[in-house]
Amino acid sequence: MNRTNMWRSIEAHPNAWDMIVVGGGATGVGVAIDAASRGYEVLLLEQSDFGKGTSSRSTKLAHGGVRYLEQGNIALVMEALKERGLLLQNAPHLVHDLAFVVPNYDWWEAPFYGLGLKLYQLLAGKYGFGASRILSREETLKHLPTLKTEGLRGGAVYYDGQFDDARLLIQMVATAFEQGATLLNYVEVTALNKDAQGFVNGVTARDVETGNEFRAAAKVVVNATGAFSDRLRLKAEPGAEPMIVPSQGIHLVFDSTFLQGNSAVMVPHTSDGRVLFAIPWDGHTLVGTTDTPIAAPTLEPIAMEQEIDFILKTAGQYLSRAPVREDVLSVFAGIRPLVRSSAATTTAQLSRDHVVHIDRSGLVTICGGKWTTYRHMAEDCVDQAATLAQLPDRTCVTHHLHIHGYHNATQELGSLAVYGSDAFEIRKLIESEPQLGEALHPALPYLKAEVIWAARNEMARTVEDALARRMRALFLNASAAVAMAPAVAALMAPELGWSEATVAKELVAFRSIAANYRLPS
Ligand SMILES: Cc1cc2nc3c(=O)[nH]c(=O)nc-3n(C[C@H](O)[C@H](O)[C@H](O)COP(=O)(O)OP(=O)(O)OC[C@H]3O[C@@H](n4cnc5c(N)ncnc54)[C@H](O)[C@@H]3O)c2cc1C
Repeated sequence: MNRTNMWRSIEAHPNAWDMIVVGGGATGVGVAIDAASRGYEVLLLEQSDFGKGTSSRSTKLAHGGVRYLEQGNIALVMEALKERGLLLQNAPHLVHDLAFVVPNYDWWEAPFYGLGLKLYQLLAGKYGFGASRILSREETLKHLPTLKTEGLRGGAVYYDGQFDDARLLIQMVATAFEQGATLLNYVEVTALNKDAQGFVNGVTARDVETGNEFRAAAKVVVNATGAFSDRLRLKAEPGAEPMIVPSQGIHLVFDSTFLQGNSAVMVPHTSDGRVLFAIPWDGHTLVGTTDTPIAAPTLEPIAMEQEIDFILKTAGQYLSRAPVREDVLSVFAGIRPLVRSSAATTTAQLSRDHVVHIDRSGLVTICGGKWTTYRHMAEDCVDQAATLAQLPDRTCVTHHLHIHGYHNATQELGSLAVYGSDAFEIRKLIESEPQLGEALHPALPYLKAEVIWAARNEMARTVEDALARRMRALFLNASAAVAMAPAVAALMAPELGWSEATVAKELVAFRSIAANYRLPS
């Protein structure tokens, strides 16, 4: 999988594609996998890197959403629980189950949450992850040794899934490619082309690396640009009513001492009426999130001071050692592409259901939903897009389609487990050049060989692509990522033909982005 081959495939395709997908997040790549695996000819264009948007900035839970159960949205919970099960079945190298403990400090909490979580377990049916149950005080502390003990009565445990979002996305890009799709990062769709009747029949796009523009024709264009959906819709119909209410959520990352053990904490009612998670992630503690309405989406959103204070304060109410600003190793923000509704008064109340919307111009927009439900969203979208474009009827096959690297005994692969079967190829690189087996930083598990692999096979084009999404260094420990950057640039330079000036430019660009992930004390 490399950019040169992708360009060749575009050049070799002068006719209209069956489908062009705009946006390389979970939604767009999911659509590309679905359509390509049905045998349609698919081109996907992403303006930045795959996963640069919200899809690398989630809480990383493959979950039904206990919160939506409380809101009474049983259908959404059941759909998501089924998708959680399919994800585990099709990507066991990337998804695993995790125990979540709801700590109880009031007498009524144990029966109340115990009952709700039992229903959550039952709704999963045959896709269940583990039995929920009420825990004694001792059992709760066994799960969560660093929980605040003052007033603690006990807890309730339930099970959900955890995954590395950007890594799953890159493996999904590889899956779409294997199914025959052509996918390019760093290509921005700048305009939608129309036929004489005003129907969208292709795109005008710009290669961000060279500035070259090109046109590509399609029988149907799918807008999977997440929080940016309205921007693309306005290119098709200048008067289109906005569909998206963008809402920001942030996470703080700390070292693993804050949350010892292998279980997560789920706080069901924060002072702002939401839920908060503290989760063990890749040897660190991930805490989030917030739900803050914002005026307009950006590709590199910045955490607000009140969001940081809120998370520090709430985490401090539950953890025996209250984290402070100096403990934050990384802070990152993402934007939810929520679908507008007149019934909701806050963004937290907006439904996480997805919507497939077809504008009068024939542009198909797929938005809303959750990471967990990407496969079902894609199935729904491709069904409708194929009908609209009069493509031959073909049934969805993704229920049982393995994600690239599928491997169900990854424990033996150590820190390379998330690559699944690709880990064996990375090991071969190390066998041929043993210095590639060296770690890039003592605080993180990443090896030099992973940088070479990312540049050669995973379309990493910048130092940021490597450190933020092929590896997760920037999201785990921003200062360590900055320290790793010169070595990463030196490894990428010969792979991508960078001059010394390009290396220097890359490092300046990376440091500037990394500044957003570090908290000024
Ligand atoms: C804080 C937070 C926590 C979350 N936690 C969870 C969770 O734990 N579990 C879960 O299931 N879901 C979670 N979600 C929801 C989930 O992350 C999103 O629903 C999902 O990532 C949205 O994916 P997407 O592909 O629609 O959008 P994105 O990932 O944003 O992708 C859209 C892409 O379109 C590209 N694009 C835009 N305009 C153009 C253009 N003109 N040309 C080419 N490309 C373009 C952008 O660059 C972007 O990469 C969370 C969301 C947030 C914000």
